[in-house]
Amino acid sequence: MVPGARLIVLGKQGAGKGTQCVRLSRHYVIPHISTGDMLRAAVKRGTEIGEEARRYMDAGELVPDEVLVELVHQRLDQDDTKARGFVLDGFPRTVRQADLLDEILPPPGIDLVLNLLVPTSLVMRRLSARRTCADCGANYSLSAPPSIDWTCDICGGEVVQREDDTEAAIKRRLDLYERQTAPLVARYRRKGLLATVRGDAAVDVVTDRLVKAIDGRRQPRAEARP
Ligand code: AMP
Repeated sequence: MVPGARLIVLGKQGAGKGTQCVRLSRHYVIPHISTGDMLRAAVKRGTEIGEEARRYMDAGELVPDEVLVELVHQRLDQDDTKARGFVLDGFPRTVRQADLLDEILPPPGIDLVLNLLVPTSLVMRRLSARRTCADCGANYSLSAPPSIDWTCDICGGEVVQREDDTEAAIKRRLDLYERQTAPLVARYRRKGLLATVRGDAAVDVVTDRLVKAIDGRRQPRAEARP
């Protein structure tokens, strides 16, 4: 079996992180940990975390770091992530979250941070056309809808526009990305952990680029072993 991996994928909202993380998760047989999906599930279940997170999410604001770190810590503590690794999607999103992640991750830490690069004009177009399954989180778009009447092809749930995919909330989220998350690119570059991959191409092409970046990084390490 292909070896596991411990990956972070960074990129603006609408860069294709969700789609590519699902593909990386299948390719490397590792859990896909999407903090957005986890929070939306908590909102839906009406848990305490969900109630707290909802007002930030609907406004396109970031949920407090402590809530996120607790959520991710619990997930990273499970057997599947310990055995195979993970692909983190939407986390860390702030320098503080990255600091806390360093504290909770056991050695050897992260293998690679992938920075999915897409022009802002393209993500604005993608996000305003995006439609999402309210039940399983699968993404569609106005130009690639589900096959039957906005009913999810995967789980039969209702496919809708996310509360935070309105133009005002999208602008706020992109602005937050520049201020809070973009500094992480420099941080991981300094640590020698960053690979930048252009995301403005067909989905399969972008997946190939990501896999090449990951395998290219692992090759020298594997060869270095006795
Ligand atoms: P996403 O699906 O990744 O775009 O996340 C949707 C929303 O969940 C974000 O706009 C935030 O309100 C919240 N969220 C997800 N991940 C994080 C995070 N790492 N830190 C803070 N808030 C988050």
